[in-house]
Amino acid sequence: MVPKSFEYVAPSTIDEALSYLGRFGPDSKVLAGGQSLVPLMKLRLAAPKYLIDINRIPDLEYIREEKSDGKEELAIGALTRHHAIEASDLIKSKASAMSEAASMIGDPQVRNYGTIGGSLVHADPAADWGAVAIALGATLRLVSSKGPRVLMADHFFVGALTCAAEPSELLTEIKIPLESPPLRTGSAYAKLERKTQDFATVGVAAKISLNDSGVCEKVGIGLASVAETSMRATKAEASLVGSKITRAKIEEAAEEAAGECRPTDDILRGSAEYKRAMARVFTERALTSALKRAENKM
Ligand code: FAD
Repeated sequence: MVPKSFEYVAPSTIDEALSYLGRFGPDSKVLAGGQSLVPLMKLRLAAPKYLIDINRIPDLEYIREEKSDGKEELAIGALTRHHAIEASDLIKSKASAMSEAASMIGDPQVRNYGTIGGSLVHADPAADWGAVAIALGATLRLVSSKGPRVLMADHFFVGALTCAAEPSELLTEIKIPLESPPLRTGSAYAKLERKTQDFATVGVAAKISLNDSGVCEKVGIGLASVAETSMRATKAEASLVGSKITRAKIEEAAEEAAGECRPTDDILRGSAEYKRAMARVFTERALTSALKRAENKM
């Protein structure tokens, strides 16, 4: 349980971090909250020669509302802790799914140290943030010494524990688009845990936007722990767009989500059949809460 020896650097600016990443590339790892990386290093499943600690960079930890091309969005620094997201009133009022997901991650220690950026880059298919980022239509800003690029969350998760970030890239920001009135939008996260503070057996994030006639104009459904990556339930989404969402429509969408997910048997969290059944139940729950929140918006 002792990591292999490594060199430690602690840049104080993004540029300095990028210069280290450019120099050390695949021999290095970024250290954010350390809640996934440090256990892997202790088990020697990760053995970076250089550890680039980004915790002293002040411009990576924030939650704010911004306007871009007349459209409102939430901007969240990659180093923002799970707990800061859980506690943010702005997040609560604009993206309830994020507050709910944050509150269900691990224990208080994990939530106080762990960061949204670290979780996304770690790309654990059972993690909560991937499903939420997909459902809310998040974009992720990656920066290297060659410049920035922005990826949709849909294109970020490549495989189990593998994301689209290059070894020379730093994830700096997550942006969540906000729908403007007259659309009324609600979102929710529903998670089945084997025991309290556990990773998801199944997690479902949902976002619903209703127009002024109560018809569903936009919907996002992201699933955790039921495929090799966090995934979008596209068939379930398609079954809702353009309709008034009734109980029967929610049941139909939940059935689609259960059909399109790709769970596997595992001895800890149950059979593929069980997880598929739970994907149906938790999709129903997330959609029901998201709908209620959208309907209650003035
Ligand atoms: P680190 O561990 O520091 O880094 C993780 C990876 O991301 C590393 O490869 C690192 O190099 C890279 N990285 C980090 N930040 C950046 C960046 N800005 N740019 C580029 N690369 C970067 N997660 C859940 O979703 N749900 C749970 O219920 C849950 N329960 C947990 C319970 C326990 C006991 C523990 C230890 C962890 C749990 N986690 C859970 C994982 C937790 O959310 C971690 O915080 C998260 O996976 C990693 O974030 P971090 O900031 O700690 O990243």
